[in-house]
Order: sequence, then structure tokens, then C-alpha cells
Amino acid sequence: MPAKVYLGLGSNLNSPPRQIRAALRAIAKLPGTQLVRCAPWYRSIAIGPGSQGRYINTVAEIDSVLKPRILLQALQQIEKQQGRKRIVRWGPRTLDIDILLYAHQTLNTQRLQIPHPRLGERNFVLRPLADIAPALTLPNGTPLAKLLANCSPEGIVRLSAGGSGGRTG
Ligand code: ADP
Ligand code: MG
Repeated sequence: MPAKVYLGLGSNLNSPPRQIRAALRAIAKLPGTQLVRCAPWYRSIAIGPGSQGRYINTVAEIDSVLKPRILLQALQQIEKQQGRKRIVRWGPRTLDIDILLYAHQTLNTQRLQIPHPRLGERNFVLRPLADIAPALTLPNGTPLAKLLANCSPEGIVRLSAGGSGGRTG
């Protein structure tokens, strides 16, 4: 049985919409993985160091038989293919793909924490996630709606109506 997985995507370099579209195509081609739908896209203000371009953020829902660690490796490979260089933490990037949720699993290793540790603080993750999965609850029982209610709505603008099966924005 494939696991239901939610991925957070973000880009603020080299034509972010193009980066997000390419990432979705690559994700859809991963072995044992189906792109179920993509949330609406949001433009958000960068939270990292220095002055950076604004981000495009969205969330993709996938069904995958890849185990969390293998999936992370595959996603990092996609980041790398799209020219991501890890220079500064939270610095500008062509593409960031985070595993937000993996079925109802909780994982706490150095390389991989699921749910994503900063999920609850980031409106640019919570908003698109709630657009496609409003009734979601975290493995610890916290409803997504509660996290969203406690999170500032500032700094993000919804851009598109989203899409499914890889057709987006
Ligand atoms: P960030 O996404 O926090 O801006 P990076 O994309 O550079 O930073 O990721 C830093 C490290 O975070 C990765 O090398 C990866 O091992 C680790 N990591 C831990 N949990 C996750 C997760 N749920 N999804 C993606 N990466 C994760
Ligand atoms: Mg990341």
C-alpha cells in the first residue's frame, strides 16, 4: 500500500514558477509514486537571512511506496538537478522540497524529522496544505485547522487555483 505524503515546495531563484513546474514533473516520475494533486500557489516573503526575492510556495499530495529516507534522497536529487546549491541555511534557493507529512508516521532522526519540524509556524505551508486537505490531523492529534488559526496570515498572497495530476498554475 502506498503512503499518502504531503510535500512542501518552494523556490525564490531562477524563475520560481518554472522551478516549481519542473519539480512537479520530476516528482510525478519518481518510481512507485503518483502525483495526486497540487495545491494553489502562494507568493511569500522570504524569512531567511539578508534581502532575498519572494518565494513561490505550494504543497503537493503524492501516493508513494518509497520509504521516507529513500523519498528524501530522491527529492534531494531533484533539488540538485535543478541547480540547488547549499550555501547558506535558509538562503535563496532554486528549489526546496520538504516532506511535511508521511502517512501518520512520526520520525525523529538527525537527517529526517516527520512531521516537518517547522510546519506549524509557516503560513506558506499551512495555507496550501489546508487548501487540499482541510480535515487533516497531525500524528499527535493536532488538527491542521488549529495550527492555521494560530498562525499569522501575513506575508503571503494566493496566486492560482492549483490543479491536479501535475497541471498547475
Ligand atoms: P530547510 O528546508 O530547513 O530550509 P534544507 O532544505 O537545506 O533546509 O534541509 C536541511 C536538511 O533538513 C536536509 O539535509 C534534511 O536532511 C533535513 N530534513 C529533516 N527533516 C526533513 C524533512 N521532513 N524534509 C526535508 N528535509 C528534512
Ligand atoms: Mg528543505
